[in-house]
Amino acid sequence: MSKEEGIKKLMLSVENCRKCNLWKTRKKPVFGEGSIDTDILFVGEAPGYNEDLQGRPFVGKAGKILNELLESIGLHRNEIYIVNTLRCRPPGNRNPLKTETDACTEHLDKQIELIQPKIIVPLGNFACSYIFEKFGLKYDKISNVHGKLFQINTIFGNVKIIPMYHPAVATYNPNTKNTLLADFKMIKKAIEQN
Ligand code: URA
Repeated sequence: MSKEEGIKKLMLSVENCRKCNLWKTRKKPVFGEGSIDTDILFVGEAPGYNEDLQGRPFVGKAGKILNELLESIGLHRNEIYIVNTLRCRPPGNRNPLKTETDACTEHLDKQIELIQPKIIVPLGNFACSYIFEKFGLKYDKISNVHGKLFQINTIFGNVKIIPMYHPAVATYNPNTKNTLLADFKMIKKAIEQN
């Protein structure tokens, strides 16, 4: 099966997914989007209000900041792939439940296997802790790891993980935006080293 076929098949299984209760309250599942041939995968937390309406990741306020951050290092959304840890919006943007993460991350795991990124950028505590745990890295807290580069070996080769604060934090804390701008330079460095 080609990568395109694998992604289409996965998309269909996400549309029909009933593994947790979030399908009952969401409007549209948010599968993820971007270039499936990219080396760079961004992983957010879960769809919010606007993402749920449009079925696309990071299209609200946090998405605007993400676009600015990408632009600051000369990247465009169509050169990367963006997914969330959860495919459906938790009602009222509450924190995802463990049962929801346990049920949903098999979609993310499959997407990672299909895309085989060389750089993974988890955004925010929730995505960072999932990605660290998945790849056997010890996760402490985001304030200790943000902007740092972690190298791991996977079944599809060496991967660099660069955890970041969630861009949504920068919508209410301007200091975080400066930290994010500085931390994003690490992504540029990692791309140049690849
Ligand atoms: N926050 C996220 O983590 N993901 C989105 O898609 C939007 C906001």
